[in-house]
Amino acid sequence: MTSDGGIKIPSRLPLLLSHEGVLLPGSTVRFSVDSPRNMQLVSQRLLRGTSLKSTIIGVIPNTRDPEHDTDDLPTLHKIGTAGIAVQVVGSNWPKPHYSLLITGLCRFRVSSLLKERPFVLAEVEQLDKLDQYTTPATEGAAAEDEELGELSKKFYQAAVQLLGMLDMSVPVVAKFRRLLDSLPRETLPDVVASMIRTSNKEKLQVLDAVSLEERFKKALPMLTKQIEGLKLLQKTRKMNPDNEKRVLSVRKGGVFPGRQFNLDGEDEEEDGDDAVALEKKVHGANMPDAALRVCLKELKRLKKMPQSMPEYALTRNYLDLMVELPWSKSTKDCLDIRAARTLLDNDHYAMDKLKRRVLEYLAVRQLKTSLKGPILCFVGPPGVGKTSVGRSIARTLGREFHRIALGGVCDQSDIRGHRRTYVGSMPGRIINGLKTVGVNNPVFLLDEVDKLGKSLQGDPAAALLEVLDPEQNHSFTDHYLNVAFDLSQVLFIATANTTATIPPALLDRMEVLQVPGYTQEERVEIAHRHLIPNQLEQHGLTPQQLHIPQETTQDIISRYTREAGVRSLERKIGAICRAVAVKVAEGHRVTKTEDLIPESPTQQGGKTLSSLSLCVIIRAGTFKHKYNQNTMANIETIKYCIQYIVKIVDQVTVLILPPAIYTSTYNGRVIREFLQMTRLIAV
Ligand code: ADP
Repeated sequence: MTSDGGIKIPSRLPLLLSHEGVLLPGSTVRFSVDSPRNMQLVSQRLLRGTSLKSTIIGVIPNTRDPEHDTDDLPTLHKIGTAGIAVQVVGSNWPKPHYSLLITGLCRFRVSSLLKERPFVLAEVEQLDKLDQYTTPATEGAAAEDEELGELSKKFYQAAVQLLGMLDMSVPVVAKFRRLLDSLPRETLPDVVASMIRTSNKEKLQVLDAVSLEERFKKALPMLTKQIEGLKLLQKTRKMNPDNEKRVLSVRKGGVFPGRQFNLDGEDEEEDGDDAVALEKKVHGANMPDAALRVCLKELKRLKKMPQSMPEYALTRNYLDLMVELPWSKSTKDCLDIRAARTLLDNDHYAMDKLKRRVLEYLAVRQLKTSLKGPILCFVGPPGVGKTSVGRSIARTLGREFHRIALGGVCDQSDIRGHRRTYVGSMPGRIINGLKTVGVNNPVFLLDEVDKLGKSLQGDPAAALLEVLDPEQNHSFTDHYLNVAFDLSQVLFIATANTTATIPPALLDRMEVLQVPGYTQEERVEIAHRHLIPNQLEQHGLTPQQLHIPQETTQDIISRYTREAGVRSLERKIGAICRAVAVKVAEGHRVTKTEDLIPESPTQQGGKTLSSLSLCVIIRAGTFKHKYNQNTMANIETIKYCIQYIVKIVDQVTVLILPPAIYTSTYNGRVIREFLQMTRLIAV
């Protein structure tokens, strides 16, 4: 590589086509390589070569290599920088690529392209002398003419001025100082332009300036701009001390290869701002001292961590949860026993014993706010309204309601969370619930405590003991949080189908309130007071569009539901509502129905026959009776059929209409409709 004219680069250079950065002589830049030609260059030349020469490549800026090997080579920038690859890092994720660290040596001009594949090889002409970097400052500084000497002096002074504004304790700034003293002045434009904040376009201008004088002229304004920017920043800092951090980050981000001064400092500042915002939130979360101390410690660790570290995300999530938890946020109880009674009565029919006990409980709470009484546990068959009473209690107290389904839970970390050392660790359901409701005094309904399981991962019932014990739960420690959270303000209510499978220790902490099933009459009342209006609303129907008489409800209950609660009844009513909804959506109107039945609306049990007739199904007994007497064609029978709905599949199957009836001049349509209806409901 050496000759009389100084150090020479090889005359044939493989070219790396870069579009992301500009390499200037004397600087070191990291390039990401993923296009086919560049990849070939790395794998066939850099990774296979053994000589120093094989590590020298040319970097052509401003050229994007086509994504596909078959595509033509774009026009290349004429001037590039020969560089030495000092580091090659390969990775297969997210796709195969290399990362190259290249230190620029000197400029070259592309004379001719020798080959395009597998990588670009070109005949090049070296433009800069290479030995300038190795000659001592005094020798190299000999300026050829006066103007150049003047320029280089000015440039040097400006660089020194910039240095004076930076913090010398930062290692990169110290390095800059060292370089400034040791490097020959003609190399300064390249070195400084690569270190200060300049755009790729500006760097390209410096690269293209082959003559030294031009290079100084191009780089000097960039340096002055940088100095002006820093001056402005320092001035604003004086006016507003908050900006101190900003200047510091500018200084830190400054002088080292590949990273420049960042006057707007947005990137760096974002992280800083983020941490500052988080710190503010930590202080604003009103948490107890112990929790605050842990948070501040974690925050300190977070600030020192690079964002790419997996632990960064973990710590961040932890802190986010800590600030979101309602440490001292609560709703105000608005308990008025009279109002509570009305509300409970309005929401639920019957259940007198249960309602009485709930009112007693609430009354005692009103008189003594810090009630450490037993946990109420509603025990009864499914669908008797246990959950819905819990919801009503929350409403009467004006508290948030949260249901925690415990059925099938067999891992104690479900309740108490995982330690943060585990991958994918998270808080338990109690803490999660508190985060969801956002207050520390909600009503928590522990649903199905009798269905808690047990496994090798520990006994969740044991973890619940701590939660439910008023003596202990003021310092409940979730494994994930690792600091105590006060649960004493939370009102816990449990539900179960049977007490037989509730662990005795847990049962011991609870007061069991039996909720037996309902009688037939109670169910009819519940249906008419609550279920039907609810279902109508849910299906977007009005009471005018669907009216279900009491007798029909009774029939549905006695023939089609067999349960202690009312859930199945609710489902059947829902099915009828859906069927009617289809008819209503299809555009059946009251008038149309009335057209079908010319006589004046029949009065049945005081109710008027109207559009509801569309989904009326015959009561099995009545139908058979009428059918046997062969009076189906009778207009009264059809009206009767239409008026009463009973959903039965087997009834449809026994319904074999004699042709005479089916073709009956007047009723063909009604009967068809009726058939459609039954089929619909039977689905
Ligand atoms: P459980 O929790 O006991 O299994 P739910 O509370 O979920 O039952 O009740 C099922 C449905 O029955 C709910 O829509 C509820 O409103 C209704 N329900 C049950 N009992 C009554 C009642 N006494 N009064 C009004 N609605 C009731």
